[in-house]
Amino acid sequence: MTSQKKKGRVFSGARPTGRQHLGNYLGAIKNYVALQDEYEECIYCIVDIHALTTVDTTKELKNNTYEMALDWLAAGLRPDDSIIFVQSHVPEVAELHTFLSMVTPLGKLTDLPTFKEKIRYQPQNINYGLVGYPVLMAADIALYKAIVVPVGVDQAPHIEFTREVVRSFNYHYNTNVLIEPQMKATKVPKVLGIDGENKMSKSLGNHIELASSPQETQQRVMQMVTDPQRARRADPGNPDVCNVFTMHRIFSSEEEVETINVECRKAGIGCVDCKKMFAKNLNEHLAPFRARRAKLAEKPDDVWGVLDDGGKRARAIAGQTIAEVKEAIGLP
Ligand code: SF4
Repeated sequence: MTSQKKKGRVFSGARPTGRQHLGNYLGAIKNYVALQDEYEECIYCIVDIHALTTVDTTKELKNNTYEMALDWLAAGLRPDDSIIFVQSHVPEVAELHTFLSMVTPLGKLTDLPTFKEKIRYQPQNINYGLVGYPVLMAADIALYKAIVVPVGVDQAPHIEFTREVVRSFNYHYNTNVLIEPQMKATKVPKVLGIDGENKMSKSLGNHIELASSPQETQQRVMQMVTDPQRARRADPGNPDVCNVFTMHRIFSSEEEVETINVECRKAGIGCVDCKKMFAKNLNEHLAPFRARRAKLAEKPDDVWGVLDDGGKRARAIAGQTIAEVKEAIGLP
């Protein structure tokens, strides 16, 4: 019921990485879905322009956008409650990006840890887009006057940066047209991949896709790294340092978690059985999602229709903001 929801707009964006994985689901999508019941308006954006800063080829961009939208919808994003759209469908974001760049000191951008990390990954291609990435991100958020931005804690510097840019713009042009957003950190800040060491990520190949078949899922789960000190079945393990156990805490019943917690420490349960149990619970959890996804995939045009409609709704808001921004600047 709309009247019981909190006022204000939620905004979040994610790069079009195609089929989503467990890390995307726990770190972002689950939160996106829940926020629909909490806030009056949610806007979720597939940020394809951001992707251009790092992709070598755009061949997969369209398909990745489609697959991602499919996963979002199957996971429970509701086009009636949320605006779901593609960043490049709203060109006003590029305008605001330019305006915000005028009040952004260059040194601030090159000092951001995320920029330093990115240039480490692609030293051969330090393009302007990489430097201006946070300004574009600030434009994404400010364009829709979002008050809440759900992101992982690793994005905290970007949100703080957005707040500074907004403050700077408002101060510079003596206006209050843009709004400083608040960060809403996701409850599961870092989901480790099957290597048990790095954040789950498609590029590292340590992910478990939501849309995989139950058999594929089980195969991936069986590859998960467990307590490194537990070399043999007869060795007692330590669930506190085991990523499989962390996942059990999310997807298994309290009784199962308690049993594993006790039995693992005295070698009462082996890692193979423990992983099988997790795979079974994960597959059960994802079954309704997979059924919805298969149904949605029967009509790809409907999925594109959701994105087109979202783009139009987003543009209506963006156009209004840009008009106010131009007036505040004093552009003729
Ligand atoms: S039994 Fe389970 S919790 Fe214990 S080390 Fe093996 S996989 Fe991890």
